[in-house]
Amino acid sequence: QAKRSGRGHCSFYSSEMNQLAQERMALESALRQALENGQLHLNYQPQIEMSTGKLYGVEALARWSHPELGDISPARFIPLAEECGLIADLGRWAVGEACRQLAQWRTKGLAIPAVSVNLSPTSFHNLELPSIISNTLQQHALKPEDLTLEITENILLDTNPGTMKTISEVQAQGVRLSMDDFGTGYSSLSYLRRLPISELKLDRSFVADLENDEAAQALSRAILGIGQSLRLTVVAEGIETQAQNLMLREQGYPVAQGYLFSRPLAPSDLECWLAERVVTH
Ligand code: C2E
Ligand code: MG
Ligand code: MG
Ligand code: MG
Repeated sequence: QAKRSGRGHCSFYSSEMNQLAQERMALESALRQALENGQLHLNYQPQIEMSTGKLYGVEALARWSHPELGDISPARFIPLAEECGLIADLGRWAVGEACRQLAQWRTKGLAIPAVSVNLSPTSFHNLELPSIISNTLQQHALKPEDLTLEITENILLDTNPGTMKTISEVQAQGVRLSMDDFGTGYSSLSYLRRLPISELKLDRSFVADLENDEAAQALSRAILGIGQSLRLTVVAEGIETQAQNLMLREQGYPVAQGYLFSRPLAPSDLECWLAERVVTH
């Protein structure tokens, strides 16, 4: 209909596109400022050892509360950061902030075994990443095993020549690598032999379908089998119900994460959550 009604609509479209472009640019510069001014935060979601109920670690997830626009989802601002060249800075910030927080918790005497940070493939283009990470760990008196880096299968579509080198160096330092959202992306499994990972995370789409879909059950079992035979820790993410939890525990999943246990929490809320757990268990 718009096409038929001629020029007036063309200018309507271009002004609308112009407006979208302007909104985007405004959001980009707001994100840049938020990163510079410390307006991004990390929330932490507990990961639980199935056999003992003990804390296995926490995953750091970035949060942005814009003064006027309110909370903006990572599903929106992470791709934005990627498109406008801020993702490497964001990744560096997240590693630094998560390490600072873990060290602070340790100083307070809280037993948090490790922290996981999500990194985009772009972060691994930087040949300095291994030294940035080792300096950060040293600065906070942390061991390499205290840090896990979550990557996605997209990293394999990345043709940057530095990526593999950086990944291997980071792993050689003793930092653990985790394959996030496993089973949803790149389809070849051959990379599981090539990438020096320690952990697989079953994507939450499989978990969501477990109760009603036998195929999802078969796949979660198969993915656990692949992980175990490669001596990887397999984490089930996105567990929302006790039924899902029981099924995955019966299948033999060693580590669980999801709203059933806790949503991602601000640091002080995580401290309360931990304190309450000690009382009730
Ligand atoms: P992800 O790394 O796979 O993180 C898990 C996402 O699932 C998180 O969403 C978490 O809040 C959500 N989640 C956890 N448990 C449940 C559950 O039981 N049910 C449901 N429905 N969802 C659950 P969030 O925080 O919105 O993050 C979305 C994605 O954004 C992350 O997926 C990750 O890919 C990306 N992201 C978040 N923070 C960062 C970051 O600092 N750097 C990078 N590069 N990416 C990040
Ligand atoms: Mg993750
Ligand atoms: Mg995931
Ligand atoms: Mg994801």
